Amino acid sequence: MLPSGLMSPAERGPSVSETQIIHKYVIALGSNQRHPKIGTPVSVMSAALEALNASPLRVLAHSKYVASRPIGPSLRNYVNAAALIETTLEPDKLLRHLKGLEARFGRRNSGQAWRARVLDLDIILWSGGIWAEPKLSVPHRLFRNRTFVLDPVVTIAPDWRDPISGLSIRHLKVRLDRAGRQS
Ligand code: ADP
Ligand code: MG
Repeated sequence: MLPSGLMSPAERGPSVSETQIIHKYVIALGSNQRHPKIGTPVSVMSAALEALNASPLRVLAHSKYVASRPIGPSLRNYVNAAALIETTLEPDKLLRHLKGLEARFGRRNSGQAWRARVLDLDIILWSGGIWAEPKLSVPHRLFRNRTFVLDPVVTIAPDWRDPISGLSIRHLKVRLDRAGRQS
């Protein structure tokens, strides 16, 4: 074999800067408002999964759609789902991409947490572990206490371990179900 200095770039293969890491993520999807063209929140979920399965993202698996009652003053029912995706995007770039998708579905950033929304996309888990920034924290800071997140996520990633508690999704769900029965 020739020393690498004597090889053409094609023979050497990708250089370090050309090699990209493939990240996996669990994304939570939510909708509680019709889209004027797409229709009901269930139709929004299907369209959103299609949008998530476009470059630079790929959907590896997704849950069924789960209907749940809303939290807060909104009277609308939520439809939720979860998707396992892979992409070369780092968490901050992925968040920007997801916000772009939300905007495409007509979500307005009015600053109220509980308003009606056509599409909400949250990053729940990342194969790289923990990302801690004021604008983005992964794992999602509230996911362990949300049935509407854990119910769909457990169907696609039951063995994924939360890097903060060290517990698997399956374990977190059992814990939440138990807490729910006591309260
Ligand atoms: P909700 O908490 O209902 O999802 P928003 O979708 O409006 O509310 O999110 C508010 C902000 O939360 C986003 O602008 C984003 O910067 C921040 N954020 C922090 N962590 C995450 C995460 N893991 N996934 C998505 N957004 C996050
Ligand atoms: Mg969100």
